[in-house]
Amino acid sequence: MSNFRFKALEVAQSRHAVPVAAPTERVGDFFGSYTFNNEVMRALLSPEAYLKVTEAISTNGQIDRNIADEVAGAMKSWATSKGATHYTHWFQPLTGETAEKHDAFFDITMEGKAVEKFKGSALVQQEPDASSFPNGGLRNTFEARGYTGWDPSSPAFLMDNGAGGKTLCIPSVFISYTGEALDYKTPLLKALNALDKAATAVCQYFDRNITKVTPTLGPEQEYFVVDRALFYARPDLVLAGRTVFGHAPARGQQLEDHYFGSIPPRVNAFMVDFEFESMKLGMPVRTRHNEVAPGQFEVAPTFEEVNLAVDHNALLMDLMEKIAAKHNLKVLFHEKPFAGVNGSGKHNNWSMGTNTGVNLLAPSTRPKESLRFLTFLVNVVKAVHDNADLLRASIASAGNEHRLGANEAPPAIVSVFLGEALTQTLNDLETKSEVTVNKGDNVYYKLGLNRIPSLMRDNTDRNRTSPFAFTGNKFEFRAVGSSANSASTMTVLNAIVADQLNKFKFDLDARLARGEKKELAIVDILKEYYANSKRILFEGNGYSDEWVEEAASRGLSNIKSSPEALGVFVQPESLALFERTGVMNHAEVESRYEIELEKYIKNVQIESRVMGDLAMNHVVSTALKYQNKLAETARNLVELGMASEAEPIKDILREISTRVIVIKKGVEAMIESRKKANNVTDTGERAKLYATEVKDHFDLIRYEVDKLEEVVDDEDWPLVKYRELLFVK
Ligand code: ADP
Ligand code: MG
Repeated sequence: MSNFRFKALEVAQSRHAVPVAAPTERVGDFFGSYTFNNEVMRALLSPEAYLKVTEAISTNGQIDRNIADEVAGAMKSWATSKGATHYTHWFQPLTGETAEKHDAFFDITMEGKAVEKFKGSALVQQEPDASSFPNGGLRNTFEARGYTGWDPSSPAFLMDNGAGGKTLCIPSVFISYTGEALDYKTPLLKALNALDKAATAVCQYFDRNITKVTPTLGPEQEYFVVDRALFYARPDLVLAGRTVFGHAPARGQQLEDHYFGSIPPRVNAFMVDFEFESMKLGMPVRTRHNEVAPGQFEVAPTFEEVNLAVDHNALLMDLMEKIAAKHNLKVLFHEKPFAGVNGSGKHNNWSMGTNTGVNLLAPSTRPKESLRFLTFLVNVVKAVHDNADLLRASIASAGNEHRLGANEAPPAIVSVFLGEALTQTLNDLETKSEVTVNKGDNVYYKLGLNRIPSLMRDNTDRNRTSPFAFTGNKFEFRAVGSSANSASTMTVLNAIVADQLNKFKFDLDARLARGEKKELAIVDILKEYYANSKRILFEGNGYSDEWVEEAASRGLSNIKSSPEALGVFVQPESLALFERTGVMNHAEVESRYEIELEKYIKNVQIESRVMGDLAMNHVVSTALKYQNKLAETARNLVELGMASEAEPIKDILREISTRVIVIKKGVEAMIESRKKANNVTDTGERAKLYATEVKDHFDLIRYEVDKLEEVVDDEDWPLVKYRELLFVK
């Protein structure tokens, strides 16, 4: 009873909710108090500087040196007045985590005098050591050095480092000296800009007052929470973020009460705590609830402009990890930490809003607005249809591979759900025969657009199995992995929609030049687009085997492996699209592809090593010890003349032996596969070998280990079991 598992269990079981001092003020009094937001800028900057900064934010313009100096001064005095001692550019390198390099605001001179160090130049640009971040070959072609540059569109904020001091964090891009993007934010900003331009141009056919379109994102974040002591007693969780072994608990997902049930007190305290801290950072977290699986939860913010929402999600994840430590908990953002238990996603709710306050994906009962709505809707559907593989590539990772396309997970098929009413509307539109409009006719009436059922939000059906679902006034891309940085997906989604809207404008202008009536031309184009892309629409159960078959017969892709999915990034059509939309040049896409492959390889390699180590040094060794105990018992029985009673024990002995042999052989073969893969120099080929030959051993080894878990005495089993991990008090 003295193994590490039982020590950890003892610690975990003795823990209670950590009390959280509930904020006494009203949310309005502390919301955003840790951000250098609009209000603070208005109060601290000269009217001229304030205007220049807000202008630069809305037009993605430059900020000149004098203004930068003034902003830096204001930022420093604001931050130091709130207890900040350091500042840092805060950026999102392609490692997938956020990065910081803290510098003190003050320097001590040789004379022992403190001097201030934060000038406009330090605000605008810094030089972290670029060689410590992945650059996917850009280092070979270009100089290793890179710099970070201030992104004024995302407010600077204060991070509490726990030890008393705070750090002023300045959201930044990270680029190489020759201007190539080394991060997630740079291409995202370019994609958002491309979308703004393309969507605004299309809006101009409907409303001249629309001069800016802002894509919006509300990322619902799913996660698991486990006790910290138990977490550290599972080397696989620590090293790979997921359990490579573990028998599914008897109280599994069937346990419906978790979804609707009350939140366990320890987790609730953790939530209250991180929500309070999030609010201070200006992050509008809104809902908290249990998710489907035991130990699984969700946090959803109110939607924001995409770049800000992406920053906030990255910051929120970071914050949650920190606050969890205070509560002796550990948050798991991995897509599939437990086999046999639901995985976690990051549902990317996405739409587009105009400067006139219109949500372009909100249906309207007014005919003219209906046509605009249908225009954007159909263009999004077509963009997803034409670029489904690219969208799939944008969510490819080792973690998400366990969640999509694995044996107990939803398939990796991209399809779109629209709901019955909308599908009907589009079908009606498509089958409508030629319309002639005479002088005096109401064109919308002739088009039937006055009869569109009011597609109210609450009327839209819900389909939780669709990877890309229309949910009344936005699309929800659910296939994004919970650990992902949404920037990757948002870059692709906004780029493909921008590209599609540009095509639409091209097609429409051609028809208008031929003298066609605008409304009729638009409807004709939408009919054609719809006919060409409707095979991507699916209303049924996206998790069913029938859908996998039907999708195949429709010619839709089902790309299960990440290396294969990632390969789409560097296909000529994708490279051309990124170039056309100004989002990334070839070298940038290729370096990104290389980095994602390397990450994939590293992850599978770690999983495989942990698996081998746990299998041999924890599981097999324990099984052999237990076998010894059993052998002794059997021998004793025989000695006592109870040979027949010893028979069932011998059966168990045989079972253990057989399983141990299979495990040992499996681990050896897996190591051989790894060696073989490691000898391959081409990254793409190596990744493929990891995805196939190395990973092929996982299920077999796991099956035998999980069977041993059922046989070996509970008191000897070294790994914390699922039932112990999943049910936090
Ligand atoms: P649900 O009924 O699906 O819970 P909610 O309105 O609560 O719908 O929204 C779920 C998520 O979608 C939230 O994170 C929310 O902020 C986001 N969301 C709502 N409207 C939009 C929008 N126009 N653009 C982007 N995200 C949105
Ligand atoms: Mg959702």
